[in-house]
Amino acid sequence: MSSYDVAIIGSGPGGYVAAIRCAQLGMKTAIIEKYSTLGGTCLNVGCIPSKALLDSSHHYEDAVKHFEEHGIEIPGEIKVNLEKMISRKQGVVDMTTKGIQFLMDKNKIDVFEGVGSFKDATHLTIKKKDGKNELIEAKNTIIATGSKPSSLPFISLDKERIITSTEALQLKEIPKHLIIIGGGVIGLELGQVYKRLGAEVTVVEYMDRIIPTMDAALSKELMKSMKKQKTKFALSHKVKSVVRTGNEVTVLADNKKGEEVSFTGDYCLVAVGRSAYTEGLNLEAAGVALEERGRIAVNAHLQTNVPNIYAIGDVIKGAMLAHKAEEEGTLVAEVMAGQKPHINYNLIPGVVYTWPEVAAVGKTEEELKQSGVAYKVGQFPMRALGRARASMDIDGFVKILADKETDEVLGVHMIGARCADLITEAVTAMEFRASAEDISRMSHAHPTYAEAVKEAALAATGDRALHV
Ligand code: FAD
Ligand code: NAD
Repeated sequence: MSSYDVAIIGSGPGGYVAAIRCAQLGMKTAIIEKYSTLGGTCLNVGCIPSKALLDSSHHYEDAVKHFEEHGIEIPGEIKVNLEKMISRKQGVVDMTTKGIQFLMDKNKIDVFEGVGSFKDATHLTIKKKDGKNELIEAKNTIIATGSKPSSLPFISLDKERIITSTEALQLKEIPKHLIIIGGGVIGLELGQVYKRLGAEVTVVEYMDRIIPTMDAALSKELMKSMKKQKTKFALSHKVKSVVRTGNEVTVLADNKKGEEVSFTGDYCLVAVGRSAYTEGLNLEAAGVALEERGRIAVNAHLQTNVPNIYAIGDVIKGAMLAHKAEEEGTLVAEVMAGQKPHINYNLIPGVVYTWPEVAAVGKTEEELKQSGVAYKVGQFPMRALGRARASMDIDGFVKILADKETDEVLGVHMIGARCADLITEAVTAMEFRASAEDISRMSHAHPTYAEAVKEAALAATGDRALHV
């Protein structure tokens, strides 16, 4: 029986990063993954494939709608080859997952393919595809088994017409009318992909705004922008049934007034969140406790109630984000090595990769109001930037919330071109507890979208924005 300092169950961004950091710190490390490719949800059916399709569909939309304005003429009809688009996406996924295998080899991490489960707190059984079991010993184990799509109790997912994000990433045809339940990150990103490719898209959302956990100004601006792209929204709608008849799917919902509204399309994407995945782990054998919603309970060191077993990523509390899982993977490895790492959960940025992109870090205006913090706001519109006008990406703004007394930046919320990358400046500033004035006095290259961050900071420090 092989024996390890640490075994990690699950090879998503939490698990594989934990494995690399453990190996860097001199631990003999094993990683167990039930699928034949490494990288978990993020690399196989999440972050990477969704961004590949967002990029391809963005190119198509540009070619159809914007090239002409730029003086680029394409003779003949511009067509989508969906099969090729999906196969390019798969190529990107394959290349990326192979990259993780390379990193495992480079760091001398033993990779086991099979379902990992606890025999007891220091022994793991790996059930392989051929039905055989292998037993390994592990002084420490990190559970990084991630999450799976949630659904609603009355929905029967047939994975053909009533689908989750996994199937939406590999459709064989462009839907005529895609009905999306849930106006969160998945619904809006994948909705935008198919809208650009020519589908009619209707988003049915339970709350009174899309991306409801983000700053309300972002919800409003993104909805305005997506409405311009002709995406339809039904907010404050409580879905009560989803029925497939042949190639048709009918979604029934009650609107705010309690009236029944019906939506009929050919596909329905259910994107109402994800839930922690612990099936098959046999947690009882190790005595690992769960908390509410089936997540694994952990302390500040991400240690479970069993001291040599840790848990990270989507399977524990907190934002279900790849970079959050990665930070936690690093933290646990360093805790096990006797170091004193720290994660500032307030500064994990959130990004929606629609176009315009939406990105945020820190407190929202709603949260500041609720906690009674006195704050000031500096906001700057993208359309006032030379860079935005040059590329014709004029939707959006940067909004900075700063403490009214101290000027410390408390939250940054932005929507516009390349905001996914711009948010890093805000994270850096806030990690160093910068004031809005600090940001406003730093030189920002011209012409860039980043100038909107400087201008919003100027606006927050006494209405000093220069270009409005
Ligand atoms: P996962 O990535 O879910 O990995 C868990 C792994 O554990 C899986 O490979 C699973 O097969 C394996 N496993 C489970 N049980 C066992 C077992 N018993 N034995 C062996 N192996 C097991 N996040 C972002 O930050 N940015 C994005 O742009 C983004 N886009 C997304 C798009 C979509 C469509 C989806 C669905 C998610 C997206 N996410 C994104 C979320 C991101 O994918 C997750 O937050 C992230 O993958 C969580 O990482 P993890 O390591 O906790 O778990
Ligand atoms: P989400 O939590 O972002 O959005 C779910 C939406 O569904 C919410 O707006 C919610 O109000 C709505 N909803 C819930 N029940 C409903 C009902 N009965 N009827 C109508 N609407 C309902 O979840 P998601 O979009 O499924 O994404 C899952 C996870 O994956 C998220 O936690 C997200 O962090 C992660 N993810 C991240 C990215 C990214 O970082 N860009 C991209 C995709 C997914």
